[in-house]
Order: sequence, then structure tokens, then C-alpha cells
Amino acid sequence: MVTVDWSQIFDNWGIKRVAPTDKNKQAYVLSAEQHAAVIAGGIAPSPERPATPFSVVTPLDHSHQRVTSSFYHSQRSAEAGREPEPRMGRELIRAWLQLHQEVLIGNIGQTLYAIKLDSAVGMTTDEVMLKVALTSPPLTVVAMAQQATARPLPKTVQRTEFTRNPYVVAAAIHRANNTCEMPGCTATLFARADGSSYLEVHHVVPLSEKGRDRPDNVAALCPHCHRQQHHGRDRVALRRQLQKHIRSLALA
Ligand SMILES: [Zn+2]
Ligand SMILES: [Zn+2]
Repeated sequence: MVTVDWSQIFDNWGIKRVAPTDKNKQAYVLSAEQHAAVIAGGIAPSPERPATPFSVVTPLDHSHQRVTSSFYHSQRSAEAGREPEPRMGRELIRAWLQLHQEVLIGNIGQTLYAIKLDSAVGMTTDEVMLKVALTSPPLTVVAMAQQATARPLPKTVQRTEFTRNPYVVAAAIHRANNTCEMPGCTATLFARADGSSYLEVHHVVPLSEKGRDRPDNVAALCPHCHRQQHHGRDRVALRRQLQKHIRSLALA
């Protein structure tokens, strides 16, 4: 289920499912709301054929952050009493969108965005907003950052925390002996206010994945290696490497 509040993210937005005719004609017909977003985004219907291309930001797509599209009004006014229809063409509908997918078209200022609703399942509004901010063009980012409330309101968050055994933390710190436990790491650790080396004790298999709070599942890491375990592109391989190393120490 999608629980994102799109109004918090976009100036204008609309959602429409990809219809068989959209896919067959390789022209995505815009809903009234989507049409308003495209116009507000500063894009006028192209009089050229083929229509002038532009790029649309796709914030929740892992493989590309932009798709090429075009915007034009179909020339069907010759057909009795039919209004010209606003459509989007090119890669957006030819390749990116699949039949029956629900897609949001929205704008922030002069930037246009497309999001497949399926890719927002399970995400919070804040998570989506962060993806949007990180993929937006620099001019939009600067403009939005300047509009930010300088003093954000405090918010109450609920999260599950686990009570960690302080002796397990201390055991890892002692074992590390002032060096990051990630194999191959040569980081120089800075000193804390009390003179001890700064290390972060990380659960190799997270407690949320039923990892154990035991010395053979924790590693004392430098901040760089710690963040990399959580966010690195190679985190799966890095976890395996760290796990193998820590287990070998535990057996020694
Ligand atoms: Zn960690
Ligand atoms: Zn390290």
C-alpha cells in the first residue's frame, strides 16, 4: 500500500494507470491533474513533429534517474468535435512504463517528475522526499533549500530499540585494540574527549534481522567502515567479509 502524502512533495501532481491504448500508440494520455503539472512545470505542448524531447526525473528508479519524454497535443481536432488530447511520448512510454502500471506525474517548480506507484510501496513521505531531493537538478535543490523552514518543528518518533549489553560493546572495543576491525582498513582513529580511540560497535547481522548481541556478532569499526557496512554498494559482500573475520577471531 502506498501511504505517501504527495501534496507534501509536489506542487501539482496526478496519477493515472497506463492504458492499452497508451502503450499501443506509444503516447501516454495525461489526466487533467497530470496535464496541469506538466504546464506548471513550464513545458508547453510542442508544435514540432516529432515533439521536442526533455528529461523527466524518476526519483524512485534504481537504474536511472531520468527518462526522456516529450509533450504534445494530438491533432485530432479534425475528428468530429474532439478536443486535442495532451500526451507524453518517447522513452517514458516506449520503454519505461509498462501496461497497467500506475504512474504519478508531478512538478516542483520547473522540474518534472515521474514515479511508478509500485516503487513507493512501504515508503514514508519523508523517505520519498529525500529521494526526490537527491535526484533533483541542482537549481531546484538550491531553490527548495532556500525555502526551507530554518527551525523545523520537533516531531515525536516511535522506534524499536534493543537493549545492548554494554559488556559486549566493551569486549569488542578491547579486542579491536585501537584499530578498526574491518580487514584491510588503515584508518587513523581520532581520540575521544577522554583520550580513548573513537570506534563504533556494529552488529554484523543486525538485531532487527535476529542477529545475536554476542562478541562473535559485533565488530568495533571506524566511522567510515561502519557507514559502509550499512550503506555501501557492496554491503552484502562487505558484511560477509567482516563476518568471516570476526568469527575467526572468536574461535582463536
Ligand atoms: Zn551498525
Ligand atoms: Zn575502518
